[in-house]
Amino acid sequence: APARDALARLILDVADYPEPGVVFKDITPLLADHDGLSAVVAALASAGRSGADSVVDKVVGMEARGFILAAPVALSLGAGFVPVRKEGKLPRETHGVSYSLEYGEATLEIHRDAIAPGDRVLLVDDVLATGGTARATQQLVEQCGGSVVGVAVLMDLSFLPWREALGELPVTTLMTV
Ligand code: IMP
Repeated sequence: APARDALARLILDVADYPEPGVVFKDITPLLADHDGLSAVVAALASAGRSGADSVVDKVVGMEARGFILAAPVALSLGAGFVPVRKEGKLPRETHGVSYSLEYGEATLEIHRDAIAPGDRVLLVDDVLATGGTARATQQLVEQCGGSVVGVAVLMDLSFLPWREALGELPVTTLMTV
């Protein structure tokens, strides 16, 4: 498949970034390659279709790399794009969800009026690790009255327990590490 070939070729492993012992997946060469970007956006968008028809009203991207992928996926699906951001970045009334990280806590926010009651929503991000970010984002969508139809990511880290965090939620992943 073109998307999987592009991922294998254009995502680079960077050792000891951002700290010793961590291998960081750098997706910027993939984003810079038109054919690679086009292939992965098409593959992510297929998570929001049933046959040829879009089944989503909104595509949510999680700060920051999720934004880059979610916006073209939204256009491809005839849907709108909605950002989920770190605490304090959105200017109007928000819902917030806090979740635990390895060290401490993080809070994510969404504009209260960004999702209408009954909206069907696809979540898009680059990497699925513990699943904490996707789970918190699902809760934000539900606080707005929407429902999450699935999560689509470039890559999942299979040695982390994201499936436990996400329960039965459908996950589309283009590459398993
Ligand atoms: P989670 O909440 O643990 O599933 O982590 C997912 C979030 O952290 C995503 O928004 C990713 O962009 C980021 N992330 C976690 N691990 C990595 C990694 O190894 N490389 C790049 N991004 C990562």
